[in-house]
Amino acid sequence: MNRICPRCKTVYSYASKECPNGCNKKTRKEANKIYDKTQRKNQDFYSSKEWKRLREACKNKYSGLCIWTLYKHKRIVKGKIAHHIVPLEVNEELGLKLYNLLYVSDEAHREIHTLIQMCSKDNFALLNESLLEEIQDYKTKWFDNDEGVGI
Ligand SMILES: [Zn+2]
Ligand SMILES: [Zn+2]
Repeated sequence: MNRICPRCKTVYSYASKECPNGCNKKTRKEANKIYDKTQRKNQDFYSSKEWKRLREACKNKYSGLCIWTLYKHKRIVKGKIAHHIVPLEVNEELGLKLYNLLYVSDEAHREIHTLIQMCSKDNFALLNESLLEEIQDYKTKWFDNDEGVGI
């Protein structure tokens, strides 16, 4: 089985995991850079008590597991980051809404941001919407729709 690199369109064997031209590394680096920049810009937000409380609530909501890896790759790994589905830059009001957060691992977070980066602005809104719907649906099934806060 082969994969196509979304960045340079090189076809390579599924077994080698990453593009032989080092594209994964480049994309990761770029995603990290953007992520760092966003973090710095929103430093006040991310160091606020409200955010820290919400991040904990998000972690609890997903039982500390990375919902993305569970949903996409059917693997159970611990989460680490609360990701904003609609970014702060786009809608600050949603910044502190539990339903706008996904609890994900570092790796999944990079994957999500790489995906977002590869989309145009219009596609991004669509991607986000369908992604959210899918994951919410999945979450409802998996987690038995416990408290359903904010959904
Ligand atoms: Zn490549
Ligand atoms: Zn994120």
